[in-house]
Amino acid sequence: MENVLKLLKEANSTVIFTGAGMSTESGLPDFRSKDRGLWERFNPDELANVNALITNEAEFTKFYQYRLSEINKYNLHEGHSVLAKWEKDGIIDSIITQNVDAFHSDAGNQDVFELHGSFRDMHCHECHKQTDRESYLAGETTCECGGTIRPGIVLFGETLPQDTFRLAEERTKKADLFIVLGSSLSVTPANMFPMVAKENGAKLVIVNREPTELDSLADYTIHDMNIKQFLTELDDSL
Ligand code: ZN
Repeated sequence: MENVLKLLKEANSTVIFTGAGMSTESGLPDFRSKDRGLWERFNPDELANVNALITNEAEFTKFYQYRLSEINKYNLHEGHSVLAKWEKDGIIDSIITQNVDAFHSDAGNQDVFELHGSFRDMHCHECHKQTDRESYLAGETTCECGGTIRPGIVLFGETLPQDTFRLAEERTKKADLFIVLGSSLSVTPANMFPMVAKENGAKLVIVNREPTELDSLADYTIHDMNIKQFLTELDDSL
């Protein structure tokens, strides 16, 4: 921890990368995990797909209203608040996230690159008019134009947001410290960011419950601490 603290204090540009582990500490089930997730109640391969939106609109909508109501049950944790404070105080540059729950922007972070989009806003699949989470949950799931209202996440069968990836990569290249929080780094192409950081001379810190595929690249790995604890302890020592 002391070494990480030193790196954080000395770094000119720190980029944070968050994965499912960041959200599971809020209680939100990792929807990829077999035992607790939603994936057993629904067939995600069918429903989280852009084809479902077109051919099975009713089930698609039910699935996403359910996921959104699940997200709404949980609150941000202290770790999210620390990261929001750090951005405000200039301690970190930005956050790159694989999570779609929008917890980082809800916490107040401005520079957040959501690689898979997010549930923050809903929009019409046809005319792209924006709506909000509340009206979606209240049942307004069809646009005036007749199009289906959908969350702003990337569905299977859709292209990843190229601009977001490009901007996130630019920040990553400029970073001299890159900290991974709660990602197994197994999802491609998201896992390229720590590699890009390392190639460009950044120090790499990985905090994750399980060993990750990129541990051998890291300067420091932490497996025996949760993220909340990691961030609050660092914050207390800053
Ligand atoms: Zn529309």
